[in-house]
Amino acid sequence: MIKDEIEKLIELQNIDNQIREIREEIASSPQRINSLKKKLDEKKREYDNLKQEHKKLKVQRREKEGELEALEEEVKKLKKALNEVKTNKEYNALLKEIEQHREKISEIEEEIIIMMEKDDEFEKKEKIFMEELEKEKEKFKIEEEKEKKRIEELNQKMKLKEEERKKKVEKIDSRIYQLYEKIRKSKKDGIAICKLEGEPGNESCSGCFVFVPTYIVEKVKKKQEIVQCENCSRILY
Ligand SMILES: [Zn+2]
Repeated sequence: MIKDEIEKLIELQNIDNQIREIREEIASSPQRINSLKKKLDEKKREYDNLKQEHKKLKVQRREKEGELEALEEEVKKLKKALNEVKTNKEYNALLKEIEQHREKISEIEEEIIIMMEKDDEFEKKEKIFMEELEKEKEKFKIEEEKEKKRIEELNQKMKLKEEERKKKVEKIDSRIYQLYEKIRKSKKDGIAICKLEGEPGNESCSGCFVFVPTYIVEKVKKKQEIVQCENCSRILY
């Protein structure tokens, strides 16, 4: 009879292990979603940074264009003034000033050309980035959906396992079951019943890996009573 009870406990332990695995998998789901979300957020941040840089460049370009306009206006004024000067000296001084302005103008024009090229580069990069980001978003959505579905399936599986467990428990001697439960709930790994391991004469408990004395091994092998490990109190078989 004890032999049968032991068999039933082994089966129950099996079911409990499966339930435990399912529960752990369900519990780790938010973590999986979060790590996917993190990747997506990172990509978004990179894209925002890129846009920010681009915006800065545009502001700089507008400033340079403003400077250019002001200088061109100045040159116009100086040219007009050329017609009104009275002395050669004044005339030459004005010419020199115009020349300096023109140099500055061509400098700024070159700067603006470089900025325009950079602007193009930004446009291209942004386009690529946006496409990538869209893809990532799509991927995330799909993964999230998949994960939700998986959790539903796991919950379903869990329900079935719990029903299976209930039926199993009904067939076990209630005092033996209570002992099993007491041990199971006290163990981090949820293992309440475990096998003897090792060569005859040198057997140990596979729950705590501690040597089991021969007289206990004998009792386990007789299967006439429930025998517990002296070290971890798990039921031995
Ligand atoms: Zn033990």
